[in-house]
Amino acid sequence: MVQLGHPRPGRLLNPLLLKVLALSVAISYLCGCCYRTATCEPIIMNQTTKPLRYIRTHFEWEEYVYDHFDVKPARGDRELRIICPNCEDPDQKCYVNPDKKVFNCFHCEFSSKKFDAISFVSKTEGISKLQAIKKILAELQVTTPVGNAFETTVTDRIYGGQNMKKKKHILRAIDGLPAPCKLMEEKDKEAWPFFSYLFGRGLTLEEIIDMRVHYVPDSVHFLYDGDGALKGDIGRRIIWPIYGGDNELISWNSREVEKVTDLKYLNCPDSDINFTLWPYSKPYGDTVVLVEGILDAYAIRRIHEVSGYATFGKSVSEEQMQLLRAWGVQKVVLFWDKKDAMKEMKATVENLKVHFETYVAAQDNMQKDKDCGDTLLMEDGIEILQEALKPIDVYSLEYDKWRLVNE
Ligand SMILES: [Zn+2]
Repeated sequence: MVQLGHPRPGRLLNPLLLKVLALSVAISYLCGCCYRTATCEPIIMNQTTKPLRYIRTHFEWEEYVYDHFDVKPARGDRELRIICPNCEDPDQKCYVNPDKKVFNCFHCEFSSKKFDAISFVSKTEGISKLQAIKKILAELQVTTPVGNAFETTVTDRIYGGQNMKKKKHILRAIDGLPAPCKLMEEKDKEAWPFFSYLFGRGLTLEEIIDMRVHYVPDSVHFLYDGDGALKGDIGRRIIWPIYGGDNELISWNSREVEKVTDLKYLNCPDSDINFTLWPYSKPYGDTVVLVEGILDAYAIRRIHEVSGYATFGKSVSEEQMQLLRAWGVQKVVLFWDKKDAMKEMKATVENLKVHFETYVAAQDNMQKDKDCGDTLLMEDGIEILQEALKPIDVYSLEYDKWRLVNE
């Protein structure tokens, strides 16, 4: 019944590598360089890209303490005496030495021997350590703001193809998924909340297992690109591996299972997702259905021997079209969310028409507020999709009517 592709397990599934990934430190570095090739520049080892070390060495103790405390200079002005942010002892028994970047409370043992600038800021301002890290990094201006900057990058890649310098299509394999990432397995209790999320989206156990879905456990794991820019928190996310030419892992796609950050989706920075299709496996016949996202592709694939592919956004790249041609595809049915993608669909149809018999899905029976992926949760989802997929030839009068109706 389930008609999913079978991506070759590839290197990331090597049990030894998984162990290594699981053992990786809480702060993950990847992309740009680290997971790509063994020969890349060791830029990620540069301390400016290691946020915790960077904070520890660059945190402006003097400025911070003067900004947040009533300071009494001590020991010949070399130390700053304050009310301890931890025990709040009014005798001001907490001493900070900005030059040595150390602090010590003689009342409660809150000291830089056990704690760092992040704990200090977290205690002082009553915020979480994660918030403290973000705040310090933002103040030190070593990061791009979480959220917008990354979304812009992805948006440029997906939608701004025309503006991007055309580069030769060379898919670069990456060596693994973001650490510490684990394969979702039934026996792993830590994975259960992630299963629960995916069940809630309508996926079956079989579909999850079949697509080698991974997860990053419930904690903070920052992700940086090769330039050291913070891309966001990879913790608490479902991760889908994305394969490209020769079935190499080329990217991954993640989504947050509960809203903690303002980044619902976080994908491999510098990813080549718009060079490939998901899943990376040949279609059953010469007809394919192109959808926007991974869940949409899952939904389409529930229909017997219908090959749905995610294009990762509202465009189809030259590379994706090349791939379809290489797979012998003759007919393409475009099934994007009609209500918000009319313009993009029309533009894409013009490109597709050059190479394929092109159709758009009628979608007349689809409820306005439901998209393809939503049918995963519907008992009659398959029937709804089959009906919605009634193809409209883009050269036909019907297509003209369909376009006018939606204009
Ligand atoms: Zn104290």
